[in-house]
Amino acid sequence: MALVIAGPSGAGKSSVIAELLRRDPSLSFSVSVTTRPRRPDEVDGRDYTFISEAEFDRWIRAGELLEWTTYGGHRYGTPRSELIPRLTRGEVVVVNVEVRGALALRGARLPGPVVLVFLVPPSREELFRRIRGRGTESEEELARRLRTAEEEIRAIPEFDYLVVNDELGQAVRRVEAILTAERLRIRRCSPSA
Ligand code: ADP
Ligand code: 5GP
Repeated sequence: MALVIAGPSGAGKSSVIAELLRRDPSLSFSVSVTTRPRRPDEVDGRDYTFISEAEFDRWIRAGELLEWTTYGGHRYGTPRSELIPRLTRGEVVVVNVEVRGALALRGARLPGPVVLVFLVPPSREELFRRIRGRGTESEEELARRLRTAEEEIRAIPEFDYLVVNDELGQAVRRVEAILTAERLRIRRCSPSA
C-alpha cells in the first residue's frame, strides 16, 4: 500500500512521517529525488536524493520517475525504484508529495492500493508560525509557499482522509488509525465509482 501524505508546506508532513516510521519499523519511506538544495538537518539518501538539474533530466528521460513536478522553483520526483518493488512485495510505503503528485500517484496504476491523506495545520496563522519557525526558507519563498497552500487546500475533496495536525502525537495516532483501517479493508471502490 502507498500511504501518501500531502498538504501545505509547514503542515508537518515530514514530522508526522518521521514519527510514523519510528513507531512502526515495518513501514518505509519513498525517498524522492530533488534539485532543491539540502537543508542543514537533512541527510542525502534518507530525506531526499539531492541531484543536479542535468541528473533530473536524465531520470525523466530514462522513464525512472512515476511522477514529478516543479515546486518553489525546484523539481521533485518519485522514483519508480522507491515504490514498485516494495509495493509488489505487499509492503506499506509512506510517500511525501505535494497535491498534484498525490493525485498523479493515484492514477499511476501502482501494484497495490494508494491511500491519499491530506494533512492540515489547525489554522492559517499556525501554518505561518510553523513554516517561519522552521527557518529554512527566504521571506520570498515563504510567501510563495503560503500562496501555494491556498491553492492546495482546494484539492481536499479529492483525498481519502483529512488529518488535522494540531498536536503531533495525536496527528500520528490519527494516521495510524487510517493505516489500521486500510490494512483491514476488504472492499475497495474502483476509481470510477
Ligand atoms: P512539512 O514537511 O509539511 O513542510 P514540517 O514537518 O517540516 O512540515 O513541519 C514544519 C515545522 O512545524 C517544523 O519546524 C516542525 O517542527 C513544526 N511542527 C510540525 N508539527 C507540529 C505540531 N503538531 N505542533 C507544532 N509544531 C509542529
Ligand atoms: P520541501 O522543499 O518542503 O521538502 O518540499 C516541497 C514540496 O514538495 C512538499 O509539498 C513535498 O510534499 C513535495 N514533494 C517532495 N517530494 C516530492 C515528489 O517526489 N513529488 C512531488 N510531486 N512532490 C514532492
